[in-house]
Order: sequence, then C-alpha cells, then structure tokens
Amino acid sequence: MSECVVGVDIGATKVAAGLVDETGGLRGALTVPTPEMGGEAVLKAVFDLLHYLAARAQRHAIHIRGIGVGTAGQVDAEQGIVRSATANLREWSQVPLAERIGQATRLPVRVDNDGNAALLAEVWAGAAKGHGDAVGLTIGTGIGGGVVTGGRILHGAWGGAAELGHLCVNFRGPRCTCGSTGCVEAYASGHGLVERLQERLAAQPADVSPVAREYLSSHGLDGVTTAMVFQWAEAGDALARETLDDALAALAHAVVSLIHTFNPTVVVVGGGVVAANPAFVSQLAARVRGLGMSSLVQPVPIVPAQLGARAGVIGAASLIWWQCGG
Ligand SMILES: [Zn+2]
Repeated sequence: MSECVVGVDIGATKVAAGLVDETGGLRGALTVPTPEMGGEAVLKAVFDLLHYLAARAQRHAIHIRGIGVGTAGQVDAEQGIVRSATANLREWSQVPLAERIGQATRLPVRVDNDGNAALLAEVWAGAAKGHGDAVGLTIGTGIGGGVVTGGRILHGAWGGAAELGHLCVNFRGPRCTCGSTGCVEAYASGHGLVERLQERLAAQPADVSPVAREYLSSHGLDGVTTAMVFQWAEAGDALARETLDDALAALAHAVVSLIHTFNPTVVVVGGGVVAANPAFVSQLAARVRGLGMSSLVQPVPIVPAQLGARAGVIGAASLIWWQCGG
C-alpha cells in the first residue's frame, strides 16, 4: 500500500486539497470556491474535500499519513490555530484548525500560513529546489510571503513572521487592509491593483481611454477586475499602465529590502496574478537589478514559481512529510 499526505490550501478565493506523495507529486486534487460566509462554512468545505479524498485514497489503496493545512491569516504553527484572519477571509480568527480537523479525522494535522506553505513547496519540488535560503512572494487577492533561512521556515515567536505583503514601501501611501499605509500589497496585489486603478479612473476622467470608457459605461467602476488592469495596459490605457508601473516599482523595492534583510540565494514569485501574466516576473527582475547593494542584490535570481496553483497543496503536505522525516 502506498502512502500520501493530504494537503489543504485555504485562500480567500478558493479552497483546494489533494493527495501528495513522498516526492511532492500530486495524485488527485480538487478545488472549490471559498464560501463567502467564512468561518464554519469554510470548515465544512474543508471536510467535504477531505471526505472525497479519503474515499479516493481508499479506492486506490493509499494510506493517508496525515493532513497538512496552509491557510490565509496569521497562524500559530505550534498550536495549529489561526490567530488572526486577513481582511480577505471572514470569520477566520481564533479557529483551532488542527484540533477541529484532528478530532474529525483522527489523523495527525499540521497547520501553517499559506505563504509559508507555498514557499516550502517551491523549495521541496519547484523553483527553489536545493536552496536553504529563499524568499517567496505569492501575489493573489493579497500578497503572501515566506522566508526559508538556514533550511528552515522562519516562524518568529509563534508563526506570525514573514507577512511580506505588508512590507511598507511608502509610508505616505494608501491605506492597506492591515491598518497600515503604503504596504506593497496595497499596490501590487490583485485587490491593490484594482483599487489603485479605480482611484485613477475616478480622479482623472479626461485620461480614461476609449477601451476603458466603453467597459465602464456598462459595468461601472465596481466592475473593474485585476485582469482588466493588465488587459487595458496592454491596449495602451495610460492609467492602467501607471497602475502597473507603480505595482512593479513597489514590488521591486520590497524585494530589494527583503534581499537586504535575509540574504537569500533565490526569490520566488508566484500566485494567481503572476500565473495569469507570465511577463510580470521578468519585468520585476529587471527593476530589481537597478536597486540596492549590488553585492547582495546582483547574485540573486528572481524567478517565477514553478508549481502554480498546486504549490499551496504540495507545501501544506510537506508540513507532515518533513515533520515525519519523510
Ligand atoms: Zn498592509
């Protein structure tokens, strides 16, 4: 009988789960939208996915060794508790995830932040394979992060370290979802890109391009999506171009600060926004080259994540495989 770990990835937009073998290979996975109600509805979605995967494992004579969970929010990794939710996921504070899932399944459960899980996956089986010092950024609805230093994920006192999306790149900048101002997330996350473009469209109506004007006439400002920022920039819309330019500048300064702080050998950039716009990482890398202390910054490749949407699930599973010495 072969063995797998169930990896679960809980994000603001979707919940994914899959069976992951000892090499980081994914053997069956599925994804559902994150219930908007948050809280118990998210837990119900997780239990439904676990139920499906348990049946699948049984059919294929796979023994489930444990369950690893990567979730949005600040996670007490030792206790397996979500201490504090992000603004993007409702009713997700003080959720004793490890206890709830452990009680229901009678399996070992480990929980960590989703940014940490995504980087662990890339170090295990992706773009940062073999690197003991790596920084990861996951650009989706928000921006998640992770830091591996000396071969270990950096947790801080209880697991809250590496909130890299909330690195401040402009203290006079726009209000961020975290309560601070000018965080990189406020410029370069999916949510931040949309907000910054909406501000420009509202403040500079004379500069709105025909392509944007036509869309806005039927959908309004609230209809602007992250994909539109990229599409309109590509079509020559000046406001979308400015928005993307600011996002790249914000990210480049954040990445340089991270290299100065952690002296990594690689920076991995992934997430839904990057997956949908592959040129984004090379544009970012070009900007980083011109900034910071060259002895630290120049040798560090800025690379796209390789595992895409699978990273969260694979990294979550690594929490069990690595703990067990696998
Ligand atoms: Zn912030």
